[in-house]
Amino acid sequence: MKAIRLTAIGSPLEEQGIDVPLIGVRDVLVRVRAAGICHSDAHYRAGVSPVKLPLTLGHEVAGVVERVGADVKHLKPGDRVCVHYLVTCGECAFCRAGNEQFCPSAEMIGKHRDGGYAEFIVVPERSVFLLPDEILFEQGAIMMCSSATSLHALKKARLAAGETVAVFGVGGLGISAIQLAKNLGAARVFAIDINSRKLELAERFDAVAINASAGDPVEQLREITNGRGVDVALELVGLPITMRQAVQSLATLGRAALVGLTRKSFEVAPYRELINKEAEIIGVSDHLASEIPVLLEMARTGRLDLSHGIIRPVPLEARAINAALDNLEKFGDDVRAVILL
Ligand SMILES: [Zn+2]
Ligand SMILES: [Zn+2]
Repeated sequence: MKAIRLTAIGSPLEEQGIDVPLIGVRDVLVRVRAAGICHSDAHYRAGVSPVKLPLTLGHEVAGVVERVGADVKHLKPGDRVCVHYLVTCGECAFCRAGNEQFCPSAEMIGKHRDGGYAEFIVVPERSVFLLPDEILFEQGAIMMCSSATSLHALKKARLAAGETVAVFGVGGLGISAIQLAKNLGAARVFAIDINSRKLELAERFDAVAINASAGDPVEQLREITNGRGVDVALELVGLPITMRQAVQSLATLGRAALVGLTRKSFEVAPYRELINKEAEIIGVSDHLASEIPVLLEMARTGRLDLSHGIIRPVPLEARAINAALDNLEKFGDDVRAVILL
């Protein structure tokens, strides 16, 4: 089969002809129909996050079941599916407790094992979910990364109906987070960004826009909430300053969920910002298989609308995929490139 692979760090991906992967008794062979090109993929190519070579990239995958192992119960050839990007053992204490992202043998597709920039991918049945007919392959694929992580962040922050939410950063994660927060019953959602076009998009989804380039967003949040602050703050940017702002914007008993990645530290005033209000800072890593059906149902019923993002189709060809990765590096493109087969 054709696969577009990373063979040397810092070099363009290359097309290789490799064998269609063999399947174990509990595995599913999926014929890839859509694979999202994500900013993380540009990081793997550049060597920012280490990976084992050679590697087929691609962790946002949807397709059709081609073949199933003898013990696969819930899937059959021809089923439309999307793929949870973590492959886990299913048996360790973390897996059994439903926190499988900490499974000691967890492998991410397209990072620790071959991913979806290929005609086929093999994953265990546990990682495969039926994709409702109402959801396009390309939307199913990109939901498996940013939307899923946004939902996990809101779950980790224990958002309850009637609470208020501040979303720092209106990118792919942010637009999903705004809609998901509303779906989970948030009374008001505030969207904070410095890009007015992104803020306009946030307003289309009923968020209250706060332009951080027009003044301190924490002050602005305090003003709109009559000094109270918000119950939940999501940090999706990955900068020390926005992490600090997320914490500072919390109300009494508020929870700040940090999703954006940085190696830097940020400052907290323990008494004033945490202890005195019993506020919490919560780390968020990946998402859970158990959250995917919830997400798919929201998308199926139109409560999670992914049609606003412009999806640019890319063929399964090394040159086109490398160009899409170059774009991500240069412009932080807000057009989503998705490989369509
Ligand atoms: Zn991704
Ligand atoms: Zn496990």
